[in-house]
Amino acid sequence: MKRILITGGAGFIGSHLCKKLLDKGNFVICLDNFFTGKPENIKCLLDNSNFQLVEHDIIEPVDIKADEIYNLACPASPPHYQYNPIKTMKTSVLGIINMLELAQKNNAKILQASTSEVYGDPEVHPQTENYWGNVNPIGIRSCYDEGKRCAETLMTDYHRQKNIDTKIVRIFNTYGPNMSPDDGRVVSNFILQALKGEDITIYGDGKQTRSFCYVSDLVEGLIKMMESDIRGPVNLGNPSERTILDFAKLIVEFTNSKSQIVYKPLPSDDPAKRQPDITVAKEKLNWIPKIDIYEGLKYTVEYFKKLL
Ligand code: NAD
Ligand code: UDP
Repeated sequence: MKRILITGGAGFIGSHLCKKLLDKGNFVICLDNFFTGKPENIKCLLDNSNFQLVEHDIIEPVDIKADEIYNLACPASPPHYQYNPIKTMKTSVLGIINMLELAQKNNAKILQASTSEVYGDPEVHPQTENYWGNVNPIGIRSCYDEGKRCAETLMTDYHRQKNIDTKIVRIFNTYGPNMSPDDGRVVSNFILQALKGEDITIYGDGKQTRSFCYVSDLVEGLIKMMESDIRGPVNLGNPSERTILDFAKLIVEFTNSKSQIVYKPLPSDDPAKRQPDITVAKEKLNWIPKIDIYEGLKYTVEYFKKLL
């Protein structure tokens, strides 16, 4: 039985990963400071004797025995990571240093949840792993983008200098149950607005694109990456790209809602387009997403209906 530490385990993706790794027969330690994570996300796991919850902030060192570390701790939605940008940067930078030191002490493998945001507002489309990105170092998204880029650097240098077994995945927009209703990201906002009959808020003209991956696909990719012999970075996401305006219309239709679409100002540095090139994941991990948007939305809308 492996001992697996998941930081950010009470968050949206982390809670699904905890469950999946428990189901596979591992001992799972979920570490979280509950900044954006919710106790309800992991409530159903608390009775499992192979599950342990540690309330801790990764900007402080911690001593936990583990064979594998998945480092997911970091607020992921723009309103949440911009709430305290200095703390966001500390979470990415001090957090990954603490986790890499822990990996060294335990001789453990470590996987970093990086992001498509390392490509910034991309000039290469779709984004391949060898593209270095177009990131503003002093904008309102920089605390997240540059923090994640710095964490990738630290992962790579700990591997080169100390031979730590590191794995970097670049996650593209992921959605599904356990997203927080106050998250502020587009999927949760649009579904909740549609279910409540409120206006659907498009930022900008809605021509910007995103590619949405269902959470079970993503979690499968994370585990395949941890079990692989490659270090990455590897893009994980669903290449099915759509405009935000089309996505708003899809949600209205899917939920049979009477909501109207309204337009709000576009936040600065909002990437104009985003689509993963997943050739590396296909070839090296034998991974492709299986859940299409209609099936994924079915499960996600059901979840938000229950919350209301
Ligand atoms: P989330 O906000 O639901 O989860 C993040 C978790 O980390 C929360 O439980 C939060 O309480 C915890 N956390 C935050 N700061 C912490 C700290 N200093 N110490 C301990 N715990 C802390 O977000 P998510 O969507 O589940 O994202 C998980 C990871 O995946 C993040 O690292 C995020 O950057 C990355 N990611 C997510 C997406 C996506 O579309 N969901 C895309 C790219 C990357
Ligand atoms: N967005 C929107 N309305 C909302 C929330 C987000 O139009 O209520 C837009 C946002 O400006 C961005 C896209 O949807 O262009 C995806 O935003 P999200 O915050 O989900 O994630 P991002 O990919 O920008 O990190």
